[in-house]
Amino acid sequence: VAFGELPGFPPGSLFEDRHALAVSGVHRPPQAGICGRAEEGAESIVLSGGFVDDIDRGDEILYTGQGGRDPTSGRQVGPQRLSRGNLALANSLRHGLPVRVIRRVDGGGYRYDGLYRVEDYGPDIGEDGFLIWRFKLVALETSLMQERVRELPGLYEVARRCDVIISRVIRDTAVTRSVKRLYDYRCQVCGVQLDTPPGPYAEAAHIRPLGRPHDGPDALENVLCLCPNHHVLFDRWQLSLTDDLALIGERGRLYTHRHHVIAVANVRYHRARYEAAHAA
Ligand SMILES: [Zn+2]
Repeated sequence: VAFGELPGFPPGSLFEDRHALAVSGVHRPPQAGICGRAEEGAESIVLSGGFVDDIDRGDEILYTGQGGRDPTSGRQVGPQRLSRGNLALANSLRHGLPVRVIRRVDGGGYRYDGLYRVEDYGPDIGEDGFLIWRFKLVALETSLMQERVRELPGLYEVARRCDVIISRVIRDTAVTRSVKRLYDYRCQVCGVQLDTPPGPYAEAAHIRPLGRPHDGPDALENVLCLCPNHHVLFDRWQLSLTDDLALIGERGRLYTHRHHVIAVANVRYHRARYEAAHAA
């Protein structure tokens, strides 16, 4: 399983047919529209055109999941379920993983159009009257930036910064995954574990933020497992920590696993900004 851009296949890469696309690894299955593992996430999707409920606005796509469709007419003839490829796309959102989007081009052939993220999804009744699972995918601005960088090879700094931004916004790193597993997706502030159909959902918050100007490390000693509410409060300096991990801005203490050592320097970095944000 390979998420993200593949070396040698930048956005705009063309493929003669589904076989060539499959061999390249950009979209491996010879027929299916969604490539991925249900439990992990979707690597890539193909927009074939002609499916009744798909809406393609370029950088924003409403993509109908798989199942219940007559392959020749593209009409829905039965309901879809949140399983297989559809569950994979749901997990792409849950884990924040990028999806490669491939479009069929006029006159035959396929084009890789860059990375998208799954922003939203839900069940809907399609035009043909059956339940469908619909996914909203939005182009990653960063893949457009990478294009620009390719045109202007002097801007390496931008490229490097892009990589960092991708990893914060989108990529589920080994570190962020392990912190979520360590806490079984329970928020270290409130203890809540949010259940969603594909599985529990939590977010990894970097104490000292990644990217400029903070340049915090993507390391276990610099991440917390938080619910979305507490992630926003923490990132927006409404919540912080003392050196011994008492909460500032809420009552109580941060839950910590005995195998999770948090670097006090990162806590101080965060708290200094909290204090700045709350100084009169
Ligand atoms: Zn929480």
